[in-house]
Amino acid sequence: MDKKPEEDPYVRDPNKPWSLADFEIGRPLGKGKFGRVYLAREAKSHFVVALKVIFKEQIEKYKLHHQLRREMEIQTSLRHPNILRLYGWFDDDERIFLILEYAHGGELYGLLKENGHLTEQQAATYISSLSQALAYCHGKCVIHRDIKPENLLLDHESSNKRKTMCGTLDYLAPEMVENKDHDHAVDNWTLGILCYEFLYGNPPFEAESQKDTFKRIVKIDLSFPATPNVSAEAKNLISQLLVKDPSKRLSLTKIMQHPWIVKNADPKGVCLI
Ligand code: ADP
Repeated sequence: MDKKPEEDPYVRDPNKPWSLADFEIGRPLGKGKFGRVYLAREAKSHFVVALKVIFKEQIEKYKLHHQLRREMEIQTSLRHPNILRLYGWFDDDERIFLILEYAHGGELYGLLKENGHLTEQQAATYISSLSQALAYCHGKCVIHRDIKPENLLLDHESSNKRKTMCGTLDYLAPEMVENKDHDHAVDNWTLGILCYEFLYGNPPFEAESQKDTFKRIVKIDLSFPATPNVSAEAKNLISQLLVKDPSKRLSLTKIMQHPWIVKNADPKGVCLI
């Protein structure tokens, strides 16, 4: 049976690094921007992981060495039940292999698209778990900056975990749109956007063009549709997060104590970034 690596079995003797020969490769789990992700297991322990293959050529082409290295260093150093583990990595001439914790449930995005929107209980559980993971990250001076449904993975207990890189602009905080200095409060903003999208199925400032999305973000052009029927407490939490002044946004501690979270979040429902 699989061992749960509570105490870092993947920290290897630096003289004996991992190689592809240490793994049995299984089915593809998905396709990323720079390569594929496979289900795999370590040959000796049969410990199941997700092996992410990144082509060096792509990283060179887009000049992403520094970003990748930094993300790998950060992800290796974080230890939280709601944050996807990066156990280690190795490379060959053409590829970099990331040994990642396997998330059984796929992307939260899939669940959202399948059901249109989430229930208040599901949404509150995810927002609560994400707040806990972010409180841990902020405590280590790490800002996530890139929280969105595609970057949240679900594990078998319905959890969500994180991955990387850009794409949609719907999640950008006003200070980022306006190219001002930003701090950890950008993540609090994103929790507001995410909470809205969980409950309504679409992000709040969606528009035809990027320019219009930016305009709506900067104006905080926020409205709550009549359907689906969302509780006043949920709207209250969202309104306290989607606030222009970063210092006035609800803190992570206050999110976790918010009546809507307390009433709806399942304390057992782990959720990972
Ligand atoms: P990229 O960020 O380079 O675009 P991703 O990390 O998103 O690549 O991976 C691509 C796909 O592989 C995703 O659709 C995701 O569902 C799947 N995947 C990635 N990491 C894992 C993991 N740790 N466990 C399970 N599935 C994963």
